[in-house]
Amino acid sequence: MINFEYKNPTKILFGQGKIPKVALEIPQDATVLMVYGSGSIKKNGVYEQVKEALRKHTVYEFGGVPANPEYDILLQALALIKEKKVSYLLAVGGGSVIDGVKFLSAAVDYEGDPWDILQLRIRTEEGQGMPFGTILTLPATGSEMNSGYVISRKERNQKLGAGGPGLFPQFSILDPEVVRSIPKKQIANGIVDAYTHVLEQYMTVPSAADLQERFAESILISLQKTAPELMTAKFDYPAAANFMWCCTMALNGLLQKGVITDWAIHAMGHELTAYYGIDHARTLAIIAPSHYRYNFETKKEKLAQYAERVWGITEGTVEEKAAAGIAQMEYFFHSMDIATKLSDYVTDYQETATRIRETFISRNLTGIGEYQSLTPDDVYEIVNMSY
Ligand code: NAP
Ligand code: FE
Repeated sequence: MINFEYKNPTKILFGQGKIPKVALEIPQDATVLMVYGSGSIKKNGVYEQVKEALRKHTVYEFGGVPANPEYDILLQALALIKEKKVSYLLAVGGGSVIDGVKFLSAAVDYEGDPWDILQLRIRTEEGQGMPFGTILTLPATGSEMNSGYVISRKERNQKLGAGGPGLFPQFSILDPEVVRSIPKKQIANGIVDAYTHVLEQYMTVPSAADLQERFAESILISLQKTAPELMTAKFDYPAAANFMWCCTMALNGLLQKGVITDWAIHAMGHELTAYYGIDHARTLAIIAPSHYRYNFETKKEKLAQYAERVWGITEGTVEEKAAAGIAQMEYFFHSMDIATKLSDYVTDYQETATRIRETFISRNLTGIGEYQSLTPDDVYEIVNMSY
């Protein structure tokens, strides 16, 4: 096991009826900016619950953060924070709203051009950044208990990430009841995003970090079990609760301790969102199978372990089990109506691999993946395979 340090300061308030507790988590004398998305919280009752709970606080609002939080819109929120002398941020939404709030937290006291923070990946250290909490409405990204974020800038076809230990939420409220109003398409996205987060921290060289590996496998198995329960018409609270906690645990830093991580799938997927606006999770479903097939030789031992322990495939050679594991992964994505070929999403995809290779070169991303050995030419081949 590789040496590690681990600190996760986010307080989790989990379960039915927890949203009103927000009033106890935010200091009474704070000036709060409540940030939300395009309006789902006004349809499912979350907005009223939060407003009622915070009726004794000073609260301003900023709605309209879009999926794939957009830089220009966040700059408007930044101006409001300064104008109203806001001292505490509250994200009410999914990963896009939470990521947007993390960027705002980092940008408030930054003196230069805020885009620098993303362009130069400036870390927000402990003690920096405006304090914030979250009320999660969409299980998927894990952003509610980690310190990373990703921001889009459409006019430049860019989607860039940053973070740092100063950007953990102070608290996150996870009420699985919110899953009731999430469209099935979005639930499927959440499952695939969380599933791929686990894969990115698991499908690397066998690590001798037994606990983390078993931990990762248990999240994959739980997501596989809850997926059909969540995709049926009737709301199932236990399934929603398991789904929600799996998504949080998939990316709160625990799985990555003591092991080598990959993150190549996300690196390539972000470019597909930047160019085509394809949902984040769907870009991962496009790239993951090709990535594992392209890197089969270096990953086959772990792929075989995945096939055996997660899918119960015990027959065959290492190569046969590894190949069967990738096929099962694709089958799992398809079972939630998630297509896994780029050509299923866009028609003008022929130049994509070239474009992404050029983007990686221009951003000096010359070595990604578990060994930092995947060059822009490898990226070209992997994206090409995903047609
Ligand atoms: P999202 O973009 O936050 O939300 C997707 C859609 O679901 C929005 O239209 C949203 O509506 C709606 N929605 C949210 N909660 C709902 C509810 N309870 N009922 C009905 N509709 C609801 O989706 P996400 O997958 O959570 O976040 C994706 C973003 O997170 C991407 O930009 C991705 O790159 C990033 N990400 C971040 C991390 C990280 O660790 N920080 C990890 C992975 C991905 P509203 O607009 O009304 O809210
Ligand atoms: Fe993700």
